[in-house]
Amino acid sequence: SQDRVFNFAAGPATLPENVLRKAESELYNWRGSGMSVMEMSHRGKEFLSIIQKAEADLRALLDIPSEYAVLFLQGGATTQFAAIPLNLCKPDDPVDYLVTGSWGDKAFKEAQKFCKPKLIWSGKSEKYTKIPSFGELEKSPDARYLHICANETIHGVEFKDYPNPKNPNGILIADMSSNFCSKPVDVSKFGVIYAGAQKNVGPSGVTIVIIRKDLIGNAQGITPVMLDYKIHAENNSLYNTPPCYGIYMCGLVFEDLLEQGGLKEVEKKNKNKADVLYNAIDQSNGFYRCPVEKSVRSLMNVPFTLEKSELEAEFVKEAAKEKMIQLKGHRSVGGMRASIYNAMSLAGVEKLVAFMKDFQARHA
Ligand code: PMP
Repeated sequence: SQDRVFNFAAGPATLPENVLRKAESELYNWRGSGMSVMEMSHRGKEFLSIIQKAEADLRALLDIPSEYAVLFLQGGATTQFAAIPLNLCKPDDPVDYLVTGSWGDKAFKEAQKFCKPKLIWSGKSEKYTKIPSFGELEKSPDARYLHICANETIHGVEFKDYPNPKNPNGILIADMSSNFCSKPVDVSKFGVIYAGAQKNVGPSGVTIVIIRKDLIGNAQGITPVMLDYKIHAENNSLYNTPPCYGIYMCGLVFEDLLEQGGLKEVEKKNKNKADVLYNAIDQSNGFYRCPVEKSVRSLMNVPFTLEKSELEAEFVKEAAKEKMIQLKGHRSVGGMRASIYNAMSLAGVEKLVAFMKDFQARHA
């Protein structure tokens, strides 16, 4: 609507307008309960119905098999960088990390405190613009797991399919923070999928973990209770006070995604939006450039630079005047970045592309 900006932020990010409207209408008095969701007991029947529906809808969206637990946690995806090794390994266990951007690198570094991670591939020397072919990888024969970041939010590199950890005990673990629920995923290929909510599915403060149940229950003795998956699984994510309002918002987003026809439909829209934007970049005769190898370009985060880098600040400023905000690239890489998560409309992307063409015409 007229009074809203097009928000290209990487997260917290834009949310669907109808979800915000629904939350607004239910804010003061949730469905006749006489209170808002923020005021409810997390153990009362109202909130239980909210968290149970959120889980059921997420299970429907991602077709999550019954041998997987769904946990609604706190602490952001960053907390999972520690929780994963603490829950899945002994201190001397080897594990593999495939690092395609700075989030994967952070996960790798955190794991060094709790197990023996090996960096089996890093895209750092090529400025994180690639994903290797999986045949080239030297996976450790006895690695407990292989960790990837399915979509690197800063560098805009996204796995289009997934490596197989190969060894019989090996499991694949993915940080899906920035492409969670943007497309269908075969959950059965993974041991653990985790994601912070604040890009595609809700506000910050909720972290979702989808874990194969047989992997739960082996946490290292030093594991804080808040990081122990067994505690959260046994208590249906209600061991302590969960982020109730955030879970409610995620539930509204899941409902909305189901109403859109599920993740196949959502993926179609996302592909279309990304095509529109990448085509504009690639057809600009070098005025704009995306450094990422074409086959692994993210559908969610589109980094690009200007050939005349001195114009970048002007680009960001003029775009903001036209209500397109948060287009500045991450401070570690510079340039621009347009995050076009599920809730960014095609109209928003088309408006950005029209602006880019106009800017080019004025500055070429
Ligand atoms: N992983 C990825 C891929 C991310 O994009 C982010 C946040 N931008 C994180 C992890 C860290 O998430 P949080 O801030 O929720 O801890």
